[in-house]
Amino acid sequence: MIKYLVFIFFIPTTIFGQGCNYENSSNDIEKLCNFLGRSFSTNTDAENALDKILSVSGMSQKFVIGRCDQIDNCCAIINNQGIRYILYNYSFMQGILNKTNYWSNFSVLAHEVGHHVNGHTIRNPSSLKESRDWELEADEFSGFTMQKLGSSLSQAQAAVREVSSNRDDTYSSHPSLNKRLEAIKRGYNKATGQSLPSVTITNTNLTDEDYFYKAINAPEEAHNYKIENFTKCISYNGKHKPICFLYGAEEKRITKDYIGALNDYQTAQNLFKDEEGVQVFIHLALGEIKMDLEDYSGAINHFNYIIIKHIEDDGIQYANWTQLAYMNRGYIKYKTSLPYCSDYKKACALGNKEACEIYDKMFCR
Ligand SMILES: [Zn+2]
Repeated sequence: MIKYLVFIFFIPTTIFGQGCNYENSSNDIEKLCNFLGRSFSTNTDAENALDKILSVSGMSQKFVIGRCDQIDNCCAIINNQGIRYILYNYSFMQGILNKTNYWSNFSVLAHEVGHHVNGHTIRNPSSLKESRDWELEADEFSGFTMQKLGSSLSQAQAAVREVSSNRDDTYSSHPSLNKRLEAIKRGYNKATGQSLPSVTITNTNLTDEDYFYKAINAPEEAHNYKIENFTKCISYNGKHKPICFLYGAEEKRITKDYIGALNDYQTAQNLFKDEEGVQVFIHLALGEIKMDLEDYSGAINHFNYIIIKHIEDDGIQYANWTQLAYMNRGYIKYKTSLPYCSDYKKACALGNKEACEIYDKMFCR
C-alpha cells in the first residue's frame, strides 16, 4: 500500500522537463503525477535499453526510469528533490523491444538521456533560442550514441525526420529539420573512429547519489540490497541523505524491521520538516507501522494528524492519504470496540472502494 504512495508525494512543485512530447515539450504535471503514483517495478527491459546507451557513452546510471503511458514517447525530468527521471511510454518501449521502431525509438531515448547529461533538466531554458540549442546538443548526443550502438546515420536520423520540418523555427522551442539532422550527423561523426571510451567505472569514487540510484534501480524484491545501498548513501552525509532515509525506511518496513523503519522515518520526518506532503506521507507510514506493532493509540495520533490536516485545507490536497488514514483509523476503532462506521464512510466518500465494501459488510447502513 505504501509502496504505491511513496511516489505520489513527489508530485513536484517545480519540474523541469525536456522533450516530454519530443516534438514540443509540454509538461503536463498532472500526467506525470499519475506516473509518479505507480511503482516502477517491471522496468527491466527499459533499463536494459538505457544501460546500452549509458555503456557506450561512458555514463553511470543516475536516473530513475519509469513507465508513464500518458506521455507520447519518452522524456527527461528532474523533480524538486533533484532526482532525475527518464519516463517512457509503454508502446514506445515495446517498439524498441520488438524491433519495429528499434533504431528510431532508441535515438529518442538517447536524445532524452542527452538532455540529462547536458544538464538541461535542472532549469528551464531562458529563451526559445536556448531551448533550440539544447535540442541540438541532445541530438548530437543521440547521434554519437547511435553510432556506438551500431546504427547507420540514416537510422539515427529517422525519428527526427518524422517529427520535424524545415519551416522557420524562430518561434519554436525545437530547431528546424536540417539543423537537427546536422547535429545528429555531428555526433555520429564524432563517434566514428573513436574507440569506446575506456570507462572502467570504478567503485572507489561512488557518492551518496550513486548509492541512491543503485538502490532505486535495483529489482523490486532486492530489499536487503536496497537497504545496504541506502545505508551507504546516508553515511555520506550528502544531498541525498534525506531521501535515502525515507526510502530506506520503507524497505526496512517491507522486510519487517519495524523498529529500524520507525527510527528512519522519524529521522526523515526531521529532515523533511518543511515539506508538508512528505510529512503527511510519513505520518501515514508511522501510523501503519504502529498498527503492525499493535500500538493502536500511537497509530491513531498519526492518522488524526492527517485527518485534521485534511479538514484544515478543505480536503484540497492529500485526499489519497486521507482516505487511508480514515480507513486505518476505522480499523483500529473496530479492533478496540469503538464506533467505526463513520470513518469507513469518510474513506469510502474519498474514493476508497475497499472502505465502501467494508462499510456495507459491517452493517453500517
Ligand atoms: Zn529534446
